[in-house]
Amino acid sequence: MLLTPGPTPVPEFVRKAMADVTIHHRTPEFEAIFERTRNLLLEIFDMPEAVMLASSGTGAMEACVTNLTHKKALTVNSGKFGERFGKICEAFNIPFSEIKNEWNTPVDVNAIVETIKNDSDIDAIFIQLCESAGGLRHPVEQIAAEVKKLNKDIMIVADGITAIGVEKVDTTNLDAVITGSQKALMLPPGLSMIGLSNAAVEKINSRPTGYYLNLASEIKKQKTNTTAYTAATTLIIGLGEILSHIKNNGGFDALYAKTALRARATRDAMQAIGCEIYPANPANAMTTVYTEHAPEIRKILKTKYNVNIAGGQDHIKKLIFRINHMGLVEDYEASWVVNAIELAMDELGLRPFDGAANKAFAQTMFKGNE
Ligand SMILES: *Cc1c(COP(=O)(O)O)cnc(C)c1O
Repeated sequence: MLLTPGPTPVPEFVRKAMADVTIHHRTPEFEAIFERTRNLLLEIFDMPEAVMLASSGTGAMEACVTNLTHKKALTVNSGKFGERFGKICEAFNIPFSEIKNEWNTPVDVNAIVETIKNDSDIDAIFIQLCESAGGLRHPVEQIAAEVKKLNKDIMIVADGITAIGVEKVDTTNLDAVITGSQKALMLPPGLSMIGLSNAAVEKINSRPTGYYLNLASEIKKQKTNTTAYTAATTLIIGLGEILSHIKNNGGFDALYAKTALRARATRDAMQAIGCEIYPANPANAMTTVYTEHAPEIRKILKTKYNVNIAGGQDHIKKLIFRINHMGLVEDYEASWVVNAIELAMDELGLRPFDGAANKAFAQTMFKGNE
């Protein structure tokens, strides 16, 4: 059972759709598939423009940094992925300021506001909706609203790789929203997507930048249902399948509600057996537990209970474990994981087994909170 927060398992109906013969990308057949997928993508982003790129998520992060920063970037680092925006700026000699916090701490809205008030060079802000390194949710929508009140020309770029497809994101004040194929969208890795505001499109077109990751040329092509270079046809076919499947089986809002409930039930289960939830403001993409026994618990889960969950990275590599909630996870899978964690804790002598995790999970998931 693969329950890591990316990659996530690819459903059978998607694998089957992608198993057909490769079609040429410059054909009316593929353009029709592209158009259908593009329209579904515009719908899930709830934004006026979108592009698909043949790259992992980091390619889209790089494209946003290079195409949307004309003067100076502000990056938010509460984990590995926020740190990456700064590293991209460094790689391109783009000036940037960084607001850094511990990996369980969301950025303070006022810290952003004060920074942009004191530095008029900043013309783009880069932040994660969910910082997957610790599973925290940043207050991106509030930040965007405050920043736009001060200066509507500052671009707000949100990395939503573990948020799009997980929760309804209010994109009203966002200029670019990034996602990737292998997390909530349940596809193999290799495709990234960016939702764009009209202001972002204008800024991109005012100074086209780069070659392969030149968003101005991609926007121009993709509006006509083709791509500047060879499209990742197989992955785009898969994306169309998964998005239309979600739309035709209850819709996006039902998926978001189900994911939120399963995330809450999992957190309740973990707390019922004395586990500490790591982030101060947990996102619904994953449940992150802080424990120095994380490596032993993960090992027992893998060898004895056939469950693969993720550990941490860098300084918290051995101090957290992360349970995925993204994608089409079955309730019985989540329920099995919390049960297995309780059994592992019993085996390690941390807490005698009494079924409290599963009971709390079932209570929240199926019986309402009281
Ligand atoms: C996984 C992830 C990425 C990077 O994705 P790659 O596909 O590995 O390049 C970026 N941001 C967040 C928040 C992620 O979870």
